[in-house]
Amino acid sequence: MCQNCQQQQGFLAELIDSGLLIDTGVDGLYGRSGLFEEVVARFDDLITRYGGQDGAEVARFPPAMNRQHFERSGYLKSFPQLAGTVHAFDGDERAHAQLLHDVADGVDWTAGQKSTDIVLTPAACYVLYPVVAKRGPVGKGGALFDLQSYCFRHEPSKDPARMQLFRMREYVRFGTPDQVTEFRAIWLERGQTMMASLGMPLEVDVANDPFFGRAGRMLANNQRDQRLKFELLIPIESVEKPTACLSFNYHQDHFGTTWGIKTEDGETAHTACVGFGMERVALALFKHHGFDVQKWPAAVRDVLWP
Ligand code: ATP
Ligand code: ZN
Ligand code: MG
Repeated sequence: MCQNCQQQQGFLAELIDSGLLIDTGVDGLYGRSGLFEEVVARFDDLITRYGGQDGAEVARFPPAMNRQHFERSGYLKSFPQLAGTVHAFDGDERAHAQLLHDVADGVDWTAGQKSTDIVLTPAACYVLYPVVAKRGPVGKGGALFDLQSYCFRHEPSKDPARMQLFRMREYVRFGTPDQVTEFRAIWLERGQTMMASLGMPLEVDVANDPFFGRAGRMLANNQRDQRLKFELLIPIESVEKPTACLSFNYHQDHFGTTWGIKTEDGETAHTACVGFGMERVALALFKHHGFDVQKWPAAVRDVLWP
């Protein structure tokens, strides 16, 4: 066993010992076993059974986005601490020789790396807003999308539920304030029904995003006061501090204004999204029902393997 593994304790160590998660030597970066992926796929399917009837447009993107779109999105203003950028070698042969020397000497070789046109996707919906903006005003009924993406957040942790690269499924709604708040209200109900059907102990609470710095504290308070973000919480790593497995976000006109997205009658579109943390839900299932899926409660198995 590697030194890193010996230090790991509790649920993370059990997950790695059982093979469900595969250690890479970096906190928050794990491989997953076939069984883990089977559970993720079954949950993905369950989401579609709940949301599929709404006629969302399905779109899948690689886990990265256009750097210019990222800059304009405002992510760096709110969450600079979480962002991940893609850099690449862009030098001549001399620079290459220097690079190899630095690697061999164990000194920082990344200083010579140049930024590329690509950054890592921080949340599945960020790639979508510029795409929708480019299409022109959303129609009378608004618009609805079904997304799933790997997302990156620089938040290394020993908590297995806080990964640096994880998958987020999302439904994203565009339209009038009434249309998008109705969408969020429907999913707040559906989300609870869905997770209760998996035998999960859960609670729903208002929440805030980890806005950076002192100005960020005000943004976070405002987000709470206006009840713009709700989370569906399930105990995974701790009972006192349950983990957000689903989140329900009302952005008001934030993305509509940022990207110039309009409704049919020329008003700025409002947006909302519901996000499902795929690994977190799988971890919650293994935590509460055990590592042997054959022994999961029959009612839960019937929901996941209909
Ligand atoms: P937290 O409060 O735990 O940091 P969050 O508010 O940052 O969560 P969102 O930004 O709303 O989460 O992301 C949508 C969903 O993605 C969350 O409900 C959660 O299930 C999942 N998620 C967020 N961060 C992580 C992470 N680091 N590892 C795994 N899943 C995550
Ligand atoms: Zn979103
Ligand atoms: Mg977070």
